Amino acid sequence: MKQTEKILCPVCQVQFVFREEKQIGKKIVCPVCGAVLVLSKENDNWQADRPKDMTPEAEIRERIENFARFRGYKFNQMKEPLVEGLLKKYSRFGDFYCPCKIDNIPENVCPCLETRQGSVEKNGRCHCGLFWK
Ligand SMILES: [Zn+2]
Repeated sequence: MKQTEKILCPVCQVQFVFREEKQIGKKIVCPVCGAVLVLSKENDNWQADRPKDMTPEAEIRERIENFARFRGYKFNQMKEPLVEGLLKKYSRFGDFYCPCKIDNIPENVCPCLETRQGSVEKNGRCHCGLFWK
């Protein structure tokens, strides 16, 4: 039984090791970006997909809460307008692209690559002011 195989996060595209017991349909959280994912199995390989039973709002709220908790970041009064901006991007462009960035590319899906790579530590906040040190 291989319990240490890696799982690819479809949100941040990072492979992470998942050591807990794997079950089809089990909800897990990407340790890198905080995305809520659902385990499935295809041709004997475990994979993770974005949940289909969550509203976009529940999905992005859980993701940013998880990410902030992992990193010890805080939110402030800018949070709600930015969550609204993320939901607008989702309904217009199909994913949670950063509301403050023009390019709707995978690197800008919240939490964006820049933020995942430590811009909050450097600047005290992420580009748009959702995450604060
Ligand atoms: Zn991820």
